[in-house]
Amino acid sequence: MTVKSFHPPVRTLMGPGPSDVSPRVLGAMARPTLGHLDPVFVGMMDEVKAMLQYAFQTKNELTMAVSAPGSAGMETCFVNLVEPGDKVIVCQNGVFGGRMKENVERCGATAIMVMDDWGKPVDPNKVEAALKANPDAKVVAFVHAETSTGAQSDAQTLVKLAHDYGCLTIVDAVTSLAGTPLKVDEWEIDAIYSGTQKCLSCVPGISPVSFGERAIERIKNRKTPVQSWFMDMNLVMAYWGGAGKRAYHHTAAVNTLYALHESLVMLQEEGLENSWARHARNHQALKAGIEAMGLRFVVDEAYRLPQLNSVTLPEGIDEAAVRSALLNDYSLEIGAGLGALAGKIWRIGLMGFASNEKNVLNCLGALDAVLS
Ligand code: PLP
Repeated sequence: MTVKSFHPPVRTLMGPGPSDVSPRVLGAMARPTLGHLDPVFVGMMDEVKAMLQYAFQTKNELTMAVSAPGSAGMETCFVNLVEPGDKVIVCQNGVFGGRMKENVERCGATAIMVMDDWGKPVDPNKVEAALKANPDAKVVAFVHAETSTGAQSDAQTLVKLAHDYGCLTIVDAVTSLAGTPLKVDEWEIDAIYSGTQKCLSCVPGISPVSFGERAIERIKNRKTPVQSWFMDMNLVMAYWGGAGKRAYHHTAAVNTLYALHESLVMLQEEGLENSWARHARNHQALKAGIEAMGLRFVVDEAYRLPQLNSVTLPEGIDEAAVRSALLNDYSLEIGAGLGALAGKIWRIGLMGFASNEKNVLNCLGALDAVLS
């Protein structure tokens, strides 16, 4: 068999991610590959770091991009901050809190679970009860924007609570970064990770992370070595640290970092607040159409994510057949429900470059046509 070059169809990606990637970002990726210690490349890395600091709203020195997807950013935070025998309070209100629990247990630590219904935010009262019952807990971990449901939790309140009880915080911002307000320094978040494939509209495969002073202190004073060589921040810092001090750690995802650089340039051009506002505006437009079609949102408006819209299905509908029709007839991808919500909802993403008026109208028109 002779295999030919792969030419993917052009889709509109309005699922839970990846989201549509701007042609500017794809174009940046096609630029010539440089050596990962080439001074020109290193200069670009410094710019990536500065722009990530802007996106996260932080001055954290240890802000960088892990050369692997969001799950690796999650793992980077856990393996560095959690040691065998530690207790970690993990909040779960969807799929990704469950993944945090797995990480804690694989670090040889105990996860104290704080459970909330899918579609609801993390309840600070339950977190406080868990903190009171476990005075020896070291870390509180939660998902800011739960992609499996579309619910947003109050990160500022949860971080403050954790600190009141002497815990550090690990925050999942894979879906929130650039789509909804997120202020790492003002909210005093200790460790945070995100992904490039959601509201940054970059290609998948990179995970921005940031660690504050308290987290670095904890990493430096570990009793045991970080069990992952690749994710050990003590080692990675030598590559992503201050200018002029780079040493080989791993071969950076050079062209993918060009893509991230371009998407962050675009974020800067638009302005972070404008990006948040655009996501909110397009959600309002989608909401008007969805409700006019008689469909409902799973998540209450007070804590609904504008970039991830979970919508209930009409009575007696074959939800997979509708998604197939959208994909095949309209080249439009929307997402299915996950876990407890599988077969019960659709997830319509309005993330990054894909969060625009044209997509809202196309999606509503296509959905209406397929359903009628
Ligand atoms: N956390 C959240 C909230 C996510 O939505 C995702 C992916 O959708 C992840 C973590 C994992 O990211 P990745 O699929 O890039 O590994």
